[in-house]
Amino acid sequence: MVKGIRKGLVAISVLVGVLNTLFFAIYVVFVFEPEFSPGVIAFHLFLTMAACIAFSVMAVLLFSRFFVRQLQNITVFINSLVPGKPFEKLKHYRDDEIGELAFSSGKMAERFNESVCQLSSEKGKLELILSRMGDGIFVLDGEGIVRSVNPSAETIFGFSARTATGMSFIEIVRDYELDKPVRRCLKTKKPQQEYLDLGRDGLYLGMVVTPLATEPGCLVLIQDLSRLRKLQLIRKDFIANVSHELRTPVSSIKLLSETLRDGASDDPAVSGRFLNQLVEDAGKLDEIVQGMTTLARIESGEARLVKKPVDIGAVAKNAVSRLQGLADDKKIVLKTLIPPEQMMVMADPAQLEQVFYNIIHNGLKFTSSGGEVVTRIYCDHHQLLASISDTGIGIEPADLERIFERFYKADKAHSGQGSGLGLAISRHIIEAHGGRIWAEPTPEGHGSRISFSLPV
Ligand code: ADP
Repeated sequence: MVKGIRKGLVAISVLVGVLNTLFFAIYVVFVFEPEFSPGVIAFHLFLTMAACIAFSVMAVLLFSRFFVRQLQNITVFINSLVPGKPFEKLKHYRDDEIGELAFSSGKMAERFNESVCQLSSEKGKLELILSRMGDGIFVLDGEGIVRSVNPSAETIFGFSARTATGMSFIEIVRDYELDKPVRRCLKTKKPQQEYLDLGRDGLYLGMVVTPLATEPGCLVLIQDLSRLRKLQLIRKDFIANVSHELRTPVSSIKLLSETLRDGASDDPAVSGRFLNQLVEDAGKLDEIVQGMTTLARIESGEARLVKKPVDIGAVAKNAVSRLQGLADDKKIVLKTLIPPEQMMVMADPAQLEQVFYNIIHNGLKFTSSGGEVVTRIYCDHHQLLASISDTGIGIEPADLERIFERFYKADKAHSGQGSGLGLAISRHIIEAHGGRIWAEPTPEGHGSRISFSLPV
């Protein structure tokens, strides 16, 4: 079926034909005389043709105005489309080619908007994933220039994403060891994997570099494995330490009992000494087992705190008086600097006393005679602070944090004394009370000071 523009064109052709015939007929009927010279006839024909053309052009112009306006509307509609923004639908068009074009433009705009919405939703999801990822991500171009980064990468390397984009990877990470796998990947277009110990701040990183599939460049994924490695080291140390702790009393018990079995029991003096040593070693084993059980109970939450309002000064004084005998034996002065008024805190009194006991006991253990161990308690900014300082051997800066780990012993020379669990238990108890515990050298420069805070 002929329709729309073609119908119009056919109509114009018919109109032009009809006008042509009409003008020619008018000319023949009203103007033409047989005696006209050929020049006059040619002139008349020219006029007829000019009139015919003028009418035809006017008809075409009138006819095309209608279509051109519709086409202009469609052009304006297409130009007004903004990705992702809602648009006003085109008015209803007639059932012709321009109507079809308008309909298809509307459909195309809808599909275009759907795709843009889908893309931006995918982009949003991807950005959310990247921003929540604990691993650092860099997208680099073929020259190793940063095109995008995620917040974790900023945290690991301490830079701002705004300044990073457009800089080279090496400028940001400032480490050739990290840059090498990236260069290799950009050159060979093959994935690279590395584990790097950067040495600074104990930073240990896992790195995976993958070439981009669609363009030159690569994706760099960096995992901060420092904590994991620290935990692995702690676990390794824990196993080494626990076996070391158990080995000494166990070998001693084995040796003593074998010696007794092989005849030493016949000598009452020797057997008495050996039996005393056996009791001491068994006591040590018992101390280790007790300590481990206490720790396990606290860690599993089995050992529940029975909190009530307690006077922390009274609790500290109880622990001090329990250790006074030991202090006298070692000729160490045990001092307390505790304000006379009551200082109430919500705590489990038995557990809190255990903490004071462990720390003061350590102070006595690592201080030689003539020294002093001072227990201070004071209130500061809505928290109670307790500190136990001594004039003993002190703690190396590298050990200040580690002494709170299970079985960690800073002083190898005195490693025979104690189980290495006292401070680990104390830390758990203080943290379970919502407080914090730490060690530092004394301001005077000799000895050490172990402090803890408790919320009031
Ligand atoms: P231990 O039973 O071995 O004393 P702790 O957990 O109480 O176990 O202490 C762990 C390590 O911390 C000790 O072995 C010691 O090396 C160090 N330490 C703790 N307190 C002191 C202190 N007051 N002075 C020096 N070193 C200390």
